[in-house]
Amino acid sequence: MIFRCKNCGANAVFSPEKQAMYCPYCDSIDSEEIAAGEGMNFCINCGGELHAGDYKSAVKCEHCGSYVIFEERTSGNYEPHLILPFKLGKKGAQELIKKEFGKKPFLPDDFLSEAKMSEMEGSYVPFFMYDYACRYQLNAQGKKVRTWRNGNTEYTETSIYDIYRDMDVDFEKIPVDASIAMNDEMMDLMEPYDYAALADFQTKYMSGFLAEKNNMSAEELETRARAKAKKDAEALMDETLTDYTAVTEKRQDLNLDRTQTNYALLPVWSYTYTYKGQTYPFYINGQTGKMTGNPPISKAKVFGYVATVFLGVLAAGGLFNLILGVL
Ligand SMILES: [Zn+2]
Ligand SMILES: [Zn+2]
Repeated sequence: MIFRCKNCGANAVFSPEKQAMYCPYCDSIDSEEIAAGEGMNFCINCGGELHAGDYKSAVKCEHCGSYVIFEERTSGNYEPHLILPFKLGKKGAQELIKKEFGKKPFLPDDFLSEAKMSEMEGSYVPFFMYDYACRYQLNAQGKKVRTWRNGNTEYTETSIYDIYRDMDVDFEKIPVDASIAMNDEMMDLMEPYDYAALADFQTKYMSGFLAEKNNMSAEELETRARAKAKKDAEALMDETLTDYTAVTEKRQDLNLDRTQTNYALLPVWSYTYTYKGQTYPFYINGQTGKMTGNPPISKAKVFGYVATVFLGVLAAGGLFNLILGVL
């Protein structure tokens, strides 16, 4: 499907700046209607061929530039429960990259060029979000050591305590990215998102962006969520044990009960820069503007810099000899 402007027929998109549906051609707000497509092979606007691949749920038509959303991959079993609509627009994302890298030396000349930057696209990345009710019981021995001095004698008092803790903690929306294309470490680095802005899923939020459906099931990905929950529960428990000099665990029982799983789409701006056959991906959190990625260093520019220093040293050597000669 595409969202079409009722006034002029152009592709209406979700505008992060206006937080509304917007037609960039006739400037109207909320003027969209749905034009339903058939299958994933051809653009419903121009009839051009589309490349849906195995996982894409929204693409940009190479022929007419329309953003096409696939019903087959956004409904039924693939319908997301939640979506975090883009808050940061394309201009805003470009400004952030320019601000971050604009003053850095050694960058290839076209790294921040308008042409390269215009290739930047926003994508919705599929996530599973896991809720857990956690019960953590701990039996341990704690030691407290106190020392003091009286005259020439030093006293040490060691007290041993039996510790019992019974902690209940609810975890809500632990995110795990469900996309093969997106690098897991990169996605983890972009967290946190502010989940208070999560909205019930509506297809219109996807218009103007690329998207993927989940590549793996919630069950296949749960190990990562459990590991995160366990680590956080242990950190919370440790905070209750800071009074002791040493703690020896006798028995621990950590039980995670999954209470809910949500399928959600989260917003990411991607800028992929290719330099000498290697790609350098940059990701910007489409809500908070947090960025990850390292730019390439241009060898030609680094060499130019080193050569300047080298020439300077030679000139100084020459001056030194001259002064010696006068003496
Ligand atoms: Zn219009
Ligand atoms: Zn098209």
